[in-house]
Amino acid sequence: MIHNFNAGPSILPRQVFEQAAKAVVDFNNTGLSILEIGHRTPLFQSVLDEAIGLVKELMQLDKDHEVLFLHGGATTQFFQVPMNLLNDDACAAYLDCGVWGSKPIKEAQLFGKVNVVASSKDRGYTYIPTNYEIPADSAYFHYTTNNTIEGTQMHTIPETQVPLVADMSSDILSRVMDFNRFDLIYAGAQKNIGAAGVNMVVVNKNILGKVKRPLPSMMDYRKHIENGSMLNTPPVFAIYVCMLTLRWLKEQGGIAPVEKVNNEKAELLYQTLDSIPVFKPTVNKADRSRMNVVFVMENPELEKLFLDLCKQEGMVGVKGHRSVGGFRVSLYNALPLSSVKALAELMQHFALKHA
Ligand SMILES: *Cc1c(COP(=O)(O)O)cnc(C)c1O
Repeated sequence: MIHNFNAGPSILPRQVFEQAAKAVVDFNNTGLSILEIGHRTPLFQSVLDEAIGLVKELMQLDKDHEVLFLHGGATTQFFQVPMNLLNDDACAAYLDCGVWGSKPIKEAQLFGKVNVVASSKDRGYTYIPTNYEIPADSAYFHYTTNNTIEGTQMHTIPETQVPLVADMSSDILSRVMDFNRFDLIYAGAQKNIGAAGVNMVVVNKNILGKVKRPLPSMMDYRKHIENGSMLNTPPVFAIYVCMLTLRWLKEQGGIAPVEKVNNEKAELLYQTLDSIPVFKPTVNKADRSRMNVVFVMENPELEKLFLDLCKQEGMVGVKGHRSVGGFRVSLYNALPLSSVKALAELMQHFALKHA
């Protein structure tokens, strides 16, 4: 039995793996592989339409919000966002709450001015700053909803009058939110949506077309909207896997019931960590992530022992990011509660032996 706590690419529902595997050999009983059909065929168009329809339905998007599937991962969005939204002489506001929060700032500086309204770098990104102001003349405000590496998460949507942009790569579709409050949402698919190689973008079309610089077609959101995410050959298989995962999410009853289980998983793990002195959660309690749980050990010498034990018990992907050390346990939508129970039990056993 494998328990997959990988941070990304990460666990997807079992049925998604099985259906995707079958489609590689024979897609919808056509005798053709999903890998060998034209992207402009009705066969693939129906996959893309279903994926977009499911995103709109699950996120309850209004008519102004368009859904795109693009190449290049979230990292491409770090520069595609300012390229489309930030004029040379304008200023965008950014919140810096982690490794993934700081990277887009550097990229935005290539296109205009950046105002870092707050940063939690002073304490190793272990909390979410609260007292900051977003100037009303900012081109937009950008933040990361969940800091995958450090294990913090914003539990409320910031109030702002300017267009709101969010990197939701590691907690998209994991909790109910008023997604229409965002003007642009992006997420690499490989954490909660599907396979690596595609990036989901939800954009309010009213904020586009205001930048003065000419844009290469592949970088222009409006061109992608006009062409229905088919400006060129899209990542066909990756989109197919997203569609299967979205179908699974709908079968579960949508985001709300999955969020309930996500909360149970996170509560169980944090309760276990808080009750065992051997383990030490690293972030501010109020800002704890329900997707990525980060902790170290009171005695660092025990870390290797616990890692070995996890390996022996089939617990995969618990080693912390190289920049933080310790452990990181990811609890994405597809991870069953039973995996967290197994890990919590292992922790209890370990603590009894090494207290
Ligand atoms: C994983 C991750 C990224 C990077 O995604 P790529 O698809 O590898 O470019 C960016 N932001 C966040 C919050 C992430 O978790």
